[in-house]
Amino acid sequence: MSLVQSVLAPGAQQRRAIAKAITLLESTRTDHRAQADEMLTALLPHTGNAFRLGISGVPGVGKSTFIEALGLHLIAKGHRVAVLTIDPSSTVSGGSILGDKTRMEKLSVHEMAYIRPSPSSGTLGGVAEKTREAMLVCEAAGYDIVIVETVGVGQSETAVAGMTDMFVLMQLPNAGDDLQAIKKGVMELADLVVINKSDLDADAAMRAQAQITSAMRLLGQQGNPEHARHHQHVWHPQVIQLSALLGEGVDRFWHEVESFRRLQMLNGRLATRRQHQALSWMWERIEAGLKQAFRQDAEVRRLLPQLTTDVSQGRVAASTAARQLLAAAASNSSVRAEPVAAHASHNPASPSTGSGRAEA
Ligand code: GDP
Repeated sequence: MSLVQSVLAPGAQQRRAIAKAITLLESTRTDHRAQADEMLTALLPHTGNAFRLGISGVPGVGKSTFIEALGLHLIAKGHRVAVLTIDPSSTVSGGSILGDKTRMEKLSVHEMAYIRPSPSSGTLGGVAEKTREAMLVCEAAGYDIVIVETVGVGQSETAVAGMTDMFVLMQLPNAGDDLQAIKKGVMELADLVVINKSDLDADAAMRAQAQITSAMRLLGQQGNPEHARHHQHVWHPQVIQLSALLGEGVDRFWHEVESFRRLQMLNGRLATRRQHQALSWMWERIEAGLKQAFRQDAEVRRLLPQLTTDVSQGRVAASTAARQLLAAAASNSSVRAEPVAAHASHNPASPSTGSGRAEA
């Protein structure tokens, strides 16, 4: 049986096939990349039917406790749950904030769940690419809920919001006391805010809920005018409380997710969101590929050290240097033959996250 067939076939061998497929995707070898693209193309028609849920929050907010509780709740309802992570610390140090083996003890051994830690190195864009592709493998294998988890630092939240259907931000009960500490950009990404550990301090949790609700309303008024108007066909980001540790509020959480999903399907935004994600993903990868090719260009490499010195010592204007380097690269055909660009043309479907429904 081919790897694609083994990924698609439910049964005892499937888990190993998924792991093998993801390892292939993560390989940096050019011949592996060609095989991986072929595999993705074959898997793509089987993707797109899962719900993709992004979850973010600072270390210690309770993400793994929550995902364990939610995952088991969903399995009890008959779902199959995959959990993937984008760990920004792995892109800096090769270390891991999210990689702790003791996380999600019950879920990680459950046969209806599949948990895969973040790829362990590379740029954030590179790690995000692998996670997007791993998501497709899990979807093709029949996991109908894919959770992508990240930590509340840097650009990783934008990356996760950019590959999921719904983005959930987890907060602590004291979050409302210091709204400044919540990055405005991240609040704007959130479709749902969860105040976790509400069991610790009920008053603080109530306060946080009220403050974040009004802050989100304000952001809605400043940003997306549709959020300010109450409209039954438009989702208004919600703020709810829960206790992951006690399992309280998990039901309510899922109810909100289902309302969101239903509404987004009815008003067409689920499909539009996936289309935008696939296209911006394609461009993100093109830009990364061009930049890589630019840096590898022989003429650029020849000119770069001197121009770097000239710019840093104020002898040449930064924009002049940039133009000279771009002109040097443009006169050299190697930029056009860069592997990432070749991969995109080899398999135009692969940069998309299998928005099967959108593409169908
Ligand atoms: P993560 O770093 O975001 O994955 O956080 P963890 O899930 O590892 O949780 C960090 C700590 O908070 C652990 O000791 C959990 O037991 C505890 N915790 C998680 N959720 C709750 C909750 O709802 N209430 C209380 N009291 N503690 C919680």
